[in-house]
Amino acid sequence: MNAPMNPPPIAAVRSRLAAAPAQLFIDGAYVDAADGATLAVEDPATGETIAHASSAGPLDIDRAVRAARSAFEGGPWSRMSPNERSKLLWKLADAIDAAGDELATIETLDNGMPYGIARHAAVPMASESLRYYAGWPTKLGGETLPVSAEGEWHAYTLRQPVGVVGAISAWNFPLSMACGKLAPAMAAGCTVVLKPAEQTPLGVAQLGRLAQEVGIPDGVINVVAGLGSVAGQALVDHPLVNKISFTGSTATGKAILAASARDLKRVTLELGGKSPCVIFADADLERAIEGAAMGVFFNSGQICVARSRLFVHRKVFDRVVEGVAGFVRNLKVGNGFEPSSMLGPLVSRAQLDRVAGYVELGTAEGAELVAGGRRLGETGYFVEPTLLAGTSPDMRVMREEIFGPVVCAVPFDDDDLQLIAARANDTEFGLAASIWTRDLGTAHRMARRIDAGQIEVNGGLPMQFALPFGGFKQSGIGRENGREGIEAFTELKTVTMRL
Ligand code: NAP
Ligand code: MG
Repeated sequence: MNAPMNPPPIAAVRSRLAAAPAQLFIDGAYVDAADGATLAVEDPATGETIAHASSAGPLDIDRAVRAARSAFEGGPWSRMSPNERSKLLWKLADAIDAAGDELATIETLDNGMPYGIARHAAVPMASESLRYYAGWPTKLGGETLPVSAEGEWHAYTLRQPVGVVGAISAWNFPLSMACGKLAPAMAAGCTVVLKPAEQTPLGVAQLGRLAQEVGIPDGVINVVAGLGSVAGQALVDHPLVNKISFTGSTATGKAILAASARDLKRVTLELGGKSPCVIFADADLERAIEGAAMGVFFNSGQICVARSRLFVHRKVFDRVVEGVAGFVRNLKVGNGFEPSSMLGPLVSRAQLDRVAGYVELGTAEGAELVAGGRRLGETGYFVEPTLLAGTSPDMRVMREEIFGPVVCAVPFDDDDLQLIAARANDTEFGLAASIWTRDLGTAHRMARRIDAGQIEVNGGLPMQFALPFGGFKQSGIGRENGREGIEAFTELKTVTMRL
């Protein structure tokens, strides 16, 4: 994956972004918001405004939803054969890869993530989700089923697209998260209105141009940046939207679920986490230490699956804590365009204050600050990765999602797996978990006992679109990726006929 990189076209991209606001993309055309509203977009490495984006209001959302509705109903998308839809999804993936240098540069400017991650992880994730789901339109179908009734009957199911999808996403992986919703929705035959996060609208805004370039019919993809409370809310409230696919905080997810009750919109929620990493005494400690550190510090901790609670067997606790602290001291934090930067800035001032607030709170509650914890520099939103020890289960730093580079380390003495799992499960969340051990029995027993959607043993994979992804408990409802991910954009219809 790590092919040599071209230098990022920073100057060219910056001047293009500064020249004109990133407009809304509705019904195949770039347009201003009806009321002319815009959002200022910051580079989190400097805090400077680098661009503006049109900010959709209810009128714009209504136009976008109606465009998606007519592209869906009797429009070109629903009439297109499955293999034609496959080809267009694949072409969109190729167009994203072809624009990879530019898109990755935008993602780094907009979100702050290191350019290597943008170029080698974020952009490929966007195109790979489209390629994975490009294989599905020709394979998605119903079944013929037996009937136990008098007479002769024919019974079968049809899997049909749910309709117009409102896709609302977070700022941590803007482009890949948008494509991760677009791909299965389009593969299922749905049309989409995408609402990216207000902090990071710039990369997703490019999707309109790329969709046009490859010949995706007007109205199939609409992109409407804007505020969650305005544009997001209008999408959730719109009666012509059939399904909301949401990634974001648990609080917003709950509000969306409540609002969806009005007309029983279908809802998939990918929400927050407080995921555990459990290291047993027999683990390969060198790999476990690196895994534990990168499991929480990758992308400066702004990952929903961050392993922010680290449980380590007492026998190896000191070695692991020293190891993670050493790893932290070697993690270079800096501007995402510096090739040596392993971690970029946090996305915003608000996020920086949030992380600083939790570090302060943790130490005030009695935690020991083992490493990190300070803001770096006065410009931009850089913070040291932070390791807290001496944390107890009732502390807020152990219970609440920080969504930043902060990990709480806790020793355990028990050998009873039920008790260890109970500590790992002592959270309202259930998104992911890591287990480090050389004992196969321990690994599989723990995998059964931890309540989480993703369990990794002895290391993690990059995002795999074939594998279902989602949360237990307050980490969400439903699954993205895999068969479940596309079925979530369908309705199942049963047809019976007397012969
Ligand atoms: P957030 O505040 O909930 O925002 C997420 C999205 O929802 C944004 O586009 C936001 O718009 C929009 N929104 C806000 N209020 C809304 C409303 N009333 N109606 C409709 N849409 C609304 O989340 P965040 O703080 O940006 O993102 C971080 C969170 O996302 C963390 O909790 C993280 O764990 C979670 N996350 C989960 C996953 C996963 O797959 N499980 C992946 C990544 C992130 P604005 O931008 O204007 O606020
Ligand atoms: Mg930004």
